[in-house]
Amino acid sequence: MVKLPIYMDNHATTAVDPRVLDAMLPYFTQKFGNAASRNHSFGWEAEEGVDKARNQIAGLINAKSKEIIFTSGATESDNEAIKGVVEFYKDKGNHIITCVTEHKAVLDSCRALERAGKASVTYLAVDKYGMVDPGQVRKAITDKTVLISIMYANNEVGTIHPIAEIGRIAKERGVIFHCDAVQAVGKIPVDVERDGIDLLAMSGHKIYGPKGVGALYVRAKGPRVRLTPMIDGGGHERGMRSGTLNVPGIVGFGAACEIAGQEMHSEAVRMRSLRDKLQAGLFERLDEVYLNGHPTERLPGNLNVSFAYVEGESLLMGVNDVAVSSGSACTSATLEPSYVIRALGTNEELAHSSIRFGVGRFNTDEEVDFVTERVSREVKRLREMSPLYEMAREGIDLKAVNWRA
Ligand SMILES: *Cc1c(COP(=O)(O)O)cnc(C)c1O
Repeated sequence: MVKLPIYMDNHATTAVDPRVLDAMLPYFTQKFGNAASRNHSFGWEAEEGVDKARNQIAGLINAKSKEIIFTSGATESDNEAIKGVVEFYKDKGNHIITCVTEHKAVLDSCRALERAGKASVTYLAVDKYGMVDPGQVRKAITDKTVLISIMYANNEVGTIHPIAEIGRIAKERGVIFHCDAVQAVGKIPVDVERDGIDLLAMSGHKIYGPKGVGALYVRAKGPRVRLTPMIDGGGHERGMRSGTLNVPGIVGFGAACEIAGQEMHSEAVRMRSLRDKLQAGLFERLDEVYLNGHPTERLPGNLNVSFAYVEGESLLMGVNDVAVSSGSACTSATLEPSYVIRALGTNEELAHSSIRFGVGRFNTDEEVDFVTERVSREVKRLREMSPLYEMAREGIDLKAVNWRA
């Protein structure tokens, strides 16, 4: 028997790996020093832990350890990258290129700069698979462009963008390239040299590390990227991010990166096979199921599907012993369908029917079987109550129906 509830929402957050927790524990009560204390062993011990983590994190993305700046998470990293570049290079230009399916941490940073009159932003569209066209990136570059910000892989539909190609274009045109790589790092190979990335945001809690810790990679050479800091203070992190370092969090983040580096390839094979099994199981049992995202260029653990004639929110309520996520963001008054799913050109109804499954390290074969059965049964039950589904089954063209008659 599987243990309930089942967690299958690993794009939202992940459990801390027990090996990560073991690495962290001594840094709460024994090695509790301030990493900035230079004159005693407590400080040195903490600094040693931070140095090791910096190496582990840099190693995972082929960076140098001095290029890693610790932050409170990827939201802060994205904010610092975008606002820091725009502020520092304001005499050079003020144009940003990004895309419509970015995380809110990127989109809202851009919006804030627009509202303040500090930047003009081009939001590139994506194709029906959620992929941005590098040709469009090239076309959008002007002599005022100071930053391109395109994510590595999307957090809702898992689509992996052609990052190395975009990196090449950015290099060619001398534009700084920031990449929100939160969902990609530790799941698929990310290499800041191969991919031509100048700034990169990552987060501990998406890769089996703790919450509240992240990093920003800042290229030191070819080109050396400069940023205006958003947080002023003691000048930690080479002046780019002041504040006493979260030593246990950083140590855990480092350990999580080390494990990811060692196990990524075998883990990706296992994640992909569980995900494919889930996908095949749902598509076998149900008609009118639609895949959202790219069929192949997709994160190994991601499955986003729309179950036609079923509200995502109703489905979630019906399967309350399975933790998955619907595309709809619940706001106080309205249920807005996901802007990411809408950007793929999916119609409103299907966008409301989307469910995101995030298979992760601790999911088992038995859990996938259980979720497949549980979700299929609930979809069938909800459809049995749907007059629209009945009509569609009887061959009535719903778009041609005059509902007022
Ligand atoms: C989770 C996530 C973030 C935010 O990361 P936090 O560390 O939680 O602030 C940013 N971008 C993407 C793509 C994410 O999935």
